[in-house]
Amino acid sequence: MQASELYKVPSPVQAFHLDWMKERNLSLTIKRDDLIHDAVSGNKWRKLKFNILQVKHLGKTGILTFGGAYSNHLLATAHACYSFGLESMAIVRGDELNEKSNDILRQCSKWGMQFRFVSREEYHLKDDFEYKNELKDEFRSHYIIPEGGKSYLGIIGCQEIVSELQNEFDEIWVAQGTCTTSIGLALSCNINQTIQAVPILKGFDVSMEISDIMKFAGFDPESVGQVLSRLNIHAEYHFGGYGKTTEELLNFILKMKEEHDLGLDPIYTGKAFFALQDYYKNSDIENRKIVFLHTGGLIAGSYLK
Ligand SMILES: *Cc1c(COP(=O)(O)O)cnc(C)c1O
Repeated sequence: MQASELYKVPSPVQAFHLDWMKERNLSLTIKRDDLIHDAVSGNKWRKLKFNILQVKHLGKTGILTFGGAYSNHLLATAHACYSFGLESMAIVRGDELNEKSNDILRQCSKWGMQFRFVSREEYHLKDDFEYKNELKDEFRSHYIIPEGGKSYLGIIGCQEIVSELQNEFDEIWVAQGTCTTSIGLALSCNINQTIQAVPILKGFDVSMEISDIMKFAGFDPESVGQVLSRLNIHAEYHFGGYGKTTEELLNFILKMKEEHDLGLDPIYTGKAFFALQDYYKNSDIENRKIVFLHTGGLIAGSYLK
């Protein structure tokens, strides 16, 4: 099967109307990466695409990756591997779990994913050089992709999002987990454009994380500086941290669904879209062309209840 038949790329762009934004000449469009695929949703396909090509180039027969119990990345990897005839193996955080612990893991398992459930201490070693070498020795036919697709090839895949945007824009809003997507966006936009990133993790040093990821991926200090200068971090919209929600957030998500038929998830996109509106409501900025990147996540989001 060809990737072009499976995944809806370029993803559609949709105008989104809110009266109060229109009055201030704030135009808002949504880049619908959530429509790329039901299971391999949003930025998860962007981050997997070149990694999967690499698996083929290297003549490997499977992918080994890492995730938590509610990981969109595991779901995406399991389905993509299933579609491309590859094996998939996941190192999962939590040795009290099994492949029937929740709907995500059950679904991954149906698509043929194998699991190793490890303690939090062992999971913590996921980016450790020695640990990865041990895994490489054990799983010789598998190509290792870091947690959440956080890799050089993942960053390159996310650059394609910006190249698909045909109309002029000033900024892109995006939910931020590992930072891979926001790095790809920031690298590929121009000097007058900014990336408005909304971390969904609490107490997370974004600049440090970005420098670490980029250095590890082989980017030079100038590129790191460029990315940091184009990123605007909105750190106050994590709603308590990963997987945490509030009544206010859930009501907002419901309202967007009922009034605008826009589905958002409570882990990532709901927080980012809330942040965008809250930020502009609390400022008097006018005349901006704003893009919201819908990174998907609706399946895992609906399982986390
Ligand atoms: C994984 C994910 C993100 C975070 O992307 P990063 O590249 O890890 O920063 C954002 N939104 C959704 C829906 C996701 O599943």
